[in-house]
Amino acid sequence: MDRTVTVQLAERSYDVRVGAGALGELGGLARSLGGASSAVVIADSNVAELYGPRAVKLLREVDLAARLVTFPAGEPSKTLATYGRILDELLSADPPIDRQTVIVALGGGVTGDLAGFVAASALRGLRWIQCATTLLAAVDASVGGKTGVDHATGKNLIGAFHQPAGVLIDVDLLSTLPPAELGNGLAECVKHGVIRDEGLLSFIEDNAADIAAAVPDVMTELIARNVAIKAAVVSADERESGQRAHLNFGHTIGHALEVFFGYDSLPHGRAVSLGMVAACRMAVTRKFISQPDAERVSALLAALHLPVTCQAVDAEEIWAIMQHDKKTAGGQVRMVLPTRLGAVDIFDDITADAVADALAAMAT
Ligand code: ADP
Ligand code: ZN
Repeated sequence: MDRTVTVQLAERSYDVRVGAGALGELGGLARSLGGASSAVVIADSNVAELYGPRAVKLLREVDLAARLVTFPAGEPSKTLATYGRILDELLSADPPIDRQTVIVALGGGVTGDLAGFVAASALRGLRWIQCATTLLAAVDASVGGKTGVDHATGKNLIGAFHQPAGVLIDVDLLSTLPPAELGNGLAECVKHGVIRDEGLLSFIEDNAADIAAAVPDVMTELIARNVAIKAAVVSADERESGQRAHLNFGHTIGHALEVFFGYDSLPHGRAVSLGMVAACRMAVTRKFISQPDAERVSALLAALHLPVTCQAVDAEEIWAIMQHDKKTAGGQVRMVLPTRLGAVDIFDDITADAVADALAAMAT
């Protein structure tokens, strides 16, 4: 069972192919771009070992000169230093890359951001294919064209928009993904359901066990539905509707908690889970959604092994962090709150008290 979702972005539109065995289409896809004689697969150390040789073989089978370039796995690698080392390797190779070289990002979000930024900037821009191997990269990073690296002063501060020529998501590759990594993607799936599609929440509820076990057909359906939602939001925002901000649901308080606890101790998906619980609580207080609605979201997150409570935090410090978020204009905190399950709105009348109340409600 394969699914294709087209990300509609005028002349930069591209297809996201999802299915068991989708990686097998890599050679054909690279060839279909036209004009290429070489390709470079960029992967982190873990993914390179698991799937690197296969990707290179698939490219060589269609007569592309293909090489594998690797870097150490993990977010600490998402730096200008790693980016520089990869560029050095590409430019000093024999033969070196040329304007027709296709970059293949084989891995999760870190690889997509790093390799995408290499593609955006090497020789002023190369075509690239993203092969997403984590659920987070599949449902989040595969749509939107955001590429880049972190800076010592903050995450994702250096980068560019550079849309891939195509995305392949082979759900068979998710079988080797550590369960904690699956959770990072599942939080974004619940987010998409709350902001756009109550039916997606039902789908996840009905299939929670198969999803946790990464059953290929269920993952194909899950990923295709999520990619379609994110693609619709991102395409609408190309027309300046401002909808892209809806994707911040759960992320305003979530980011603040990540900073408060430290990125290493609170993984992104767990932070977003807590952020969504807090935002739902605020929506209940404002009578946008019912208490049972909020409990339904919490129960679903808990069923996916995501946290819905956390140790007590210093609400004043969280509020201060929220006010300094790079997405906060002039200290005015804005939050995305559900107005029913499947719809959200943006609110800029958020108070420190409302945030403190929501944090207190989920404290253990
Ligand atoms: P994310 O996709 O969550 O942004 P990363 O790109 O760092 O983050 O990937 C998370 C971790 O999972 C990394 O250690 C990476 O090497 C590993 N990984 C990625 N895809 C797979 C896979 N299919 N099987 C096993 N490990 C994987
Ligand atoms: Zn996120």
